[in-house]
Amino acid sequence: MSSDDVRLEDLPLREDLRGRSPYGAPQLDVPVRLNTNENPYPPPQALVDDVTEAVREVAAGLHRYPDRDAIALRQDLAAYLTGATGVPLTERNLWAANGSNEVLQQILQAFGGPGRSALGFEPSYSMHPIIAAGTRTDWVPTPRRDDFTLDTEAAARIVGERQPDVVFVTSPNNPTGGSIPFDELELVLRAAPGIVVVDEAYAEFSSQRSAVELIEAYPAQLIVSRTMSKAFAFAGGRLGYLAAAPAVIDALQLVRLPYHLSLLTQAAARAALRHADETLATVAKLAAERERVAEALLGLGFTPVPSDANFILFGRFADAKASWQAYVDNGVLIRDVGIAGHLRVTIGTPEENDAFLAASKEVPR
Ligand code: PMP
Repeated sequence: MSSDDVRLEDLPLREDLRGRSPYGAPQLDVPVRLNTNENPYPPPQALVDDVTEAVREVAAGLHRYPDRDAIALRQDLAAYLTGATGVPLTERNLWAANGSNEVLQQILQAFGGPGRSALGFEPSYSMHPIIAAGTRTDWVPTPRRDDFTLDTEAAARIVGERQPDVVFVTSPNNPTGGSIPFDELELVLRAAPGIVVVDEAYAEFSSQRSAVELIEAYPAQLIVSRTMSKAFAFAGGRLGYLAAAPAVIDALQLVRLPYHLSLLTQAAARAALRHADETLATVAKLAAERERVAEALLGLGFTPVPSDANFILFGRFADAKASWQAYVDNGVLIRDVGIAGHLRVTIGTPEENDAFLAASKEVPR
């Protein structure tokens, strides 16, 4: 018997993980890849050079562990977020990890777990329930309206009834694209007995005010998570972060693995942040393209869902899975997010969007 003969079912896996599927956005080699909400513009040469130089410098110290608390990086992130939101923040308000997925996992390790629950408004980001499962946090799915907006009054009522330890509000929401109006966020915060995580992975693309503005008013509840994977064009660098009251960061230090952010990651992320103005200049271009693509989809007879992010959910398809495959056959990879009759496309460069729109004329509805 070789190691290949052992199947997953043969392993002494936790019962609650049996039969589950891993996160699985297909990574296919097709000409136009518009499926994981990345920034389509590669980093500018000056950023590439700066990252390379920064990594070269720190490489001489690779025999030592990195700064466990990533203080300098957290200072830089605080400066960026203060500039972006107008809210004064220091490194004591910031925490960083390998992608916001790791940030979210640490939040559930600290505030969720066995005997606790987390509530989310679905359809939303598929990793929230997967991270809940991994940390053995009970998942409480709560529906959005049929048009995918959030009925905040109903949401507050359900939060009050279910008393979840953690509430996830994704704004702009992935995969549907809309934001929760800033004024309505407090309804959820007031109803929640515990932590409210506002997942702002796509905040830079949105015109809504950031939940960061509410941290001072709800310091024992509110955590705002962000990422450099989207607007910052740094998905490959794996850097997510959050803003919250300093005590929240103290709590996360209890569950984080020591030295979780490598010397290389910290140096590269700091270098990338120094070029924030250049990278974020792509945001306006992408927002304009989003409107162009939405209009064009309407013109083709599709129904795009209004989006505040760098992607659009659109329908209707009789068989979304078959249409997804037809896009692939036309050289365009988009995403079947499991919403009946709908597919999601990430906004790419104008050329990529044109290729997507051309393919949209070919695929079965
Ligand atoms: N939150 C949301 C809503 C997302 O869409 C994503 C990426 N798809 C993430 C978090 C995680 O991104 P990352 O781990 O790359 O920061």
